Amino acid sequence: MHFHLGIQFVFRFFRMNSFPEVSVQALHDAVRTVPDFPQPGIAFKDVTPILLDPVLFRQAVEALAEPFRDAGVTKVAGIEARGFLFGLPLAEELDAGFIPIRKQGKLPWRTYRMEYDLEYGADCVEMHMDAVVQGDRILIHGDVIATGGTAAATAKLIRKAGGELAGFSFLVELDYLSGRERLESDAAIGPVLRFDA
Ligand code: AMP
Repeated sequence: MHFHLGIQFVFRFFRMNSFPEVSVQALHDAVRTVPDFPQPGIAFKDVTPILLDPVLFRQAVEALAEPFRDAGVTKVAGIEARGFLFGLPLAEELDAGFIPIRKQGKLPWRTYRMEYDLEYGADCVEMHMDAVVQGDRILIHGDVIATGGTAAATAKLIRKAGGELAGFSFLVELDYLSGRERLESDAAIGPVLRFDA
């Protein structure tokens, strides 16, 4: 047991020090803004260039983990599909489990579901019924917080399943959409990169 922990520590220490430091500005610069995708008027924040670069990728995961290292997180709930990209390594970094939060009809077993309003129509998030157990502290993670509707519905889903909320983690926050106002007012929110346009 001790040997195993020792190895893990050495591995982490090595991993943390085997990459050069990059700045938050470098991460910010790597996010590509694609105008008019997927519809006219939307400035889409594309985080995939970060994934192409192992130094930026590692730095992004560490920056996501930093505010929550002492938050007692037992599981990260990643919102599909781009919330899986960084959510999985984030869970590993925090020594936590991972819950896939999916859109309607994608999960094979019994689910809890939560509907939420969109500008036009409604959407729905689902989670397997055995994903949250008593005592779990869940960190919700998405790639981007835009209007905050999906993250807010995910929080309700976690509560419905009896989980405690450790906070919200996003790689990108779109300040101009004020999504954080839809989240629980006392929740810890950890965006790594903020954009005002
Ligand atoms: P929302 O519920 O409005 O916060 O956004 C739901 C999801 O849509 C986010 O988790 C993003 O993956 C995606 N999304 C919305 N707006 C954008 C955008 N401008 N750029 C990239 N992704 C976006």
